Amino acid sequence: MRRFLSARAERINPSPTLAIDAIAKELKARGENVIGFGAGEPDFDTPGEIKEMAIRALQEGRTKYTPASGIYHLKEAVCHKYRREQGLEYQPEEVIICCGAKHALYNVFQVACNPGDEVLLPSPYWVSYYEQIRLAGAEPVLLATGSDEGFKISPELLAKNITPRTKALVLNSPNNPTGAVYSREELSTLAGVIANHDMLVISDEIYEEINYTGLPNVSIAALGPEIKGRTVIVNGLSKTFAMTGWRIGYALGDREIIKAMSALQSHSTSNPTTFCQEAAITALLDPPREAVQMMVAEFKKRRDYMVQRVRAIPGLDCLNPEGAFYVFVNMAELAGRRIAGRIIKNGDDLAQLFLEKIKVAVVPGSGFGAPSYFRLSYALGFEQIREGLDRIEELLTTHC
Ligand code: PMP
Ligand code: GLU
Repeated sequence: MRRFLSARAERINPSPTLAIDAIAKELKARGENVIGFGAGEPDFDTPGEIKEMAIRALQEGRTKYTPASGIYHLKEAVCHKYRREQGLEYQPEEVIICCGAKHALYNVFQVACNPGDEVLLPSPYWVSYYEQIRLAGAEPVLLATGSDEGFKISPELLAKNITPRTKALVLNSPNNPTGAVYSREELSTLAGVIANHDMLVISDEIYEEINYTGLPNVSIAALGPEIKGRTVIVNGLSKTFAMTGWRIGYALGDREIIKAMSALQSHSTSNPTTFCQEAAITALLDPPREAVQMMVAEFKKRRDYMVQRVRAIPGLDCLNPEGAFYVFVNMAELAGRRIAGRIIKNGDDLAQLFLEKIKVAVVPGSGFGAPSYFRLSYALGFEQIREGLDRIEELLTTHC
């Protein structure tokens, strides 16, 4: 039946982050004592007031289609949020509500890219950008960064890679998988380069609240009208409000781009789930601040603990991430070593070994464009984090 598959389908790789999470969940369901460091979703529950709004919406019969691009009041709530938090002015016509930020990103790449276009992608990158750019027929052009630069691109690296075929730059701050957070000054030097070229910026701000720098998160669009005009902001409720399963994301940008995304959405998913949109209005207009602050404070404690533990394990190293809820671990020192009877070449081999020998699920770095790394999520309970790190430490100290 393979012969029936399109060239597009043949080119696509499944999401490794979701695959690892599925393996860990399946093993757990079978009663195995697995520690899942794969999940990129907060382990906290969605705040009660948001759930209540969804229940009320259901009881009031909000169970029908909405406009394909989302409820007008929710678009207004998105505008309100960006005005309140970033001082940015958008109209509801410049907003689309999608089935998660991932879907918003998919729509942007589909409407912006032609075959042969290049999209600049700082690397390490979150797995789905790479595949979505290719699905849109464009080429991801990787801007390689390392731990010495804090995994951030410089204006020089950006300028060097811009060609007449460049369509867009993808920015993700706070970053998955590295945890890097760009400062206002850093964004401003990048905006200076972008201003000299006819290109878009796709700014994925989904981890905006999970930022430990003590400084407010800055959207590159807030740095002036010129850069705002070129930016498509992508955001969603999954991370800030622990709402991964609700599937509500959104994008803000030029009305022609939003209109094209809405047309595409009207022929694919139609509207995101109606009662989830209704609850999202409450989340954005009157955010449960205490619940969010409590969650971020807990993430910070876990990050501090995890970084200190990882650095103490021979052969492993990591930067101190400034945002999101991942530690990106460098295992290059272990490459080529025999561990528990097996030669470990890279992060893929190590992740496989962890799963088989000690029932610990981590995401190998290859899916993020960094084969000598693996990613640990700390969106799981403290005791589990301790147990998982104990197992890794034990394996690497006794079998290495
Ligand atoms: N962007 C990044 C960087 C992410 O890590 C995620 C997590 N899945 C998403 C977008 C998509 O989030 P969602 O579709 O759940 O809104
Ligand atoms: N963004 C999360 C992660 O990177 C969730 C999984 C996904 O959507 O890829 O793990």
